[in-house]
Amino acid sequence: MTAPDQTESVSHGVEAQYRQALDDGRFLIQQCAGCDRAVFYPRMLCPHCGADKLSWITPDGRGAVYSTTVVRRKPDAGGDYNVALIDLQEGVRLMSRVEGVAPDAVRIGMGVRAQVVQQDGRGLVVFVPNKEAP
Ligand SMILES: [Zn+2]
Repeated sequence: MTAPDQTESVSHGVEAQYRQALDDGRFLIQQCAGCDRAVFYPRMLCPHCGADKLSWITPDGRGAVYSTTVVRRKPDAGGDYNVALIDLQEGVRLMSRVEGVAPDAVRIGMGVRAQVVQQDGRGLVVFVPNKEAP
């Protein structure tokens, strides 16, 4: 069990639920019962139609790189890393990073798949190249 003892920010409601699921190793997004569209980042009201009928779904996890950037860091600070915007199949875009390849080898349009990793005691969504991409 991971103890939720880090209270650096007072998060509540849907964001807290989202983070709790991540800490438990599950990546969830929302889906609106009003218009059937996927919603991310978690919120109370659907940004598409304004309905308050959002429920949690487990996304397929596959997506594609929309944009990619390499953040330069000194080796003793952990080295360079990748920051990418990922379009999920469900139609939502999120900021994350692509691991498993060199930061500058990430390409726009590259097929990727979501993974939840634990970092500093918190769950975090990252992406790895999807080897089974068509
Ligand atoms: Zn909606």
